[in-house]
Order: sequence, then structure tokens, then C-alpha cells
Amino acid sequence: MDAGTVRSWLAASAAAIREQRDYLTQLDAAIGDADHGANMDRGFAAVVERLDGEESSQPPGKLLLTAGSTLVSTVGGASGPLWGTALRRAGRSLGEVEEFGAEELVAALDAALTGVVELGAASEGEKTMVDALAPAVRVLRERVADGAGLADALAAAREAGEAGMRATVPLQALKGRASYLGERSIGHQDPGATSTVLILAALERSAAAGT
Ligand code: ADP
Ligand code: MG
Repeated sequence: MDAGTVRSWLAASAAAIREQRDYLTQLDAAIGDADHGANMDRGFAAVVERLDGEESSQPPGKLLLTAGSTLVSTVGGASGPLWGTALRRAGRSLGEVEEFGAEELVAALDAALTGVVELGAASEGEKTMVDALAPAVRVLRERVADGAGLADALAAAREAGEAGMRATVPLQALKGRASYLGERSIGHQDPGATSTVLILAALERSAAAGT
């Protein structure tokens, strides 16, 4: 994987979020303030525009740092700083390398998750994006350690993220805006966990295309 993989990942994320924008907004209308689709779409569209203007020689870690900063500065909702921090931490983890493999990807996504948890203080089971991201990173790490190919490991990680996303439905939200609803947040899928799965699926496709 290289800078091209990161560019295609972020572009594919932006496209998937654009396509699912109304769905994400509907999910946020049920337990939040109906802006998650708009927030993520605005942020990721700005990322793609910004990276299109970056020199093609930028290493993958630098692209992720720029992408993260762009999300922080363009998205007002909770998801902007959370995903912005995630991408910045992933970029910092990759450092200056031009190419990276499965183990560096695990380290980068682990750093992203740590950043989200440090900023948002959500544990698994509190009905947030962490419920999709944490199991995905865990399964990716396990599969890579077991010697699985990158495509298989990323598919398993995305499936774990999907399972975590679906498992948010019966949960009561304990973090973020949805927590204000108390028990009325039960029975709805978390919007942030849902967009996280779109981003994981985009990574799966982009990494597979690059190998
Ligand atoms: P806002 O809640 O500010 O309107 P968004 O609607 O864009 O922002 O994002 C809502 C999503 O952000 C939630 O569905 C949840 O997944 C995620 N989220 C909110 N607070 C936290 C937190 N403290 N930690 C992790 N994720 C969170
Ligand atoms: Mg919202």
C-alpha cells in the first residue's frame, strides 16, 4: 500500500458517504440532530478536494495528517474531531514511509482507535462509532498476526465492524448527543458506527485494488 491506496481509500469513503448521506441523516434524526450525513459528506468532500490539490509526492502518512486536519476544520459535529483525530493519529503512525504493509496498517488503525477513545472517552457498548471501529481493529490485528492475506484480513475486519454496528441497535447510548435520550435511544442503529462501516468497506476495496 502507498499514497495511492490512501487517496483511493479517502475518495471511496467520500463517495460511499455521499451515496448514503440521506440514510446517515435518517439514523441521526432518530437519536440525534439529523446532521450526521451532512457532516460526514461535507468533511470527506473537503478532504478529497484538499488532497487533489496536494503534490503527488506526498507520503501516505502526510496525506492522512492533512485529511484529518481538514475534517477537524470543516465539520462542526462530534464526528469531525473524532474522525479527524483518527486520521491524524493514523498518519502519525505511518510517519514518512512511502509504502506500508499489513502490520503498519494494523498499527495505524490501532492508533486511530486510541485517538478516538482518548478524545471521546467511549468504551465499547456505549453505542458509538467505537462499537464498529474497535472490533474491526481487533479482528484485523488477529488475522494479520495469524498470517492471513491483507484482503482476507480486511474483509474479516469489515465484517466485525458490521456486526458491531448492528449490535448498537439494542444498546442505550451513553456518549454523545444520543445519550440525552436515555432509554429512548434503544432500538436505533448508531449513525457513527454506520458511517464507520462505510469507511472500513472503502479501505477493504482500496487495499485490495492496490495489491
Ligand atoms: P453530533 O452528535 O455532534 O451531531 P454527528 O451527528 O456528526 O455529531 O455524529 C454523531 C456520531 O458521533 C454518533 O452516532 C457516535 O457514533 C459518534 N459519537 C458521538 N459522541 C462520541 C464519543 N464521545 N465517542 C465516540 N463517538 C461518539
Ligand atoms: Mg448529529
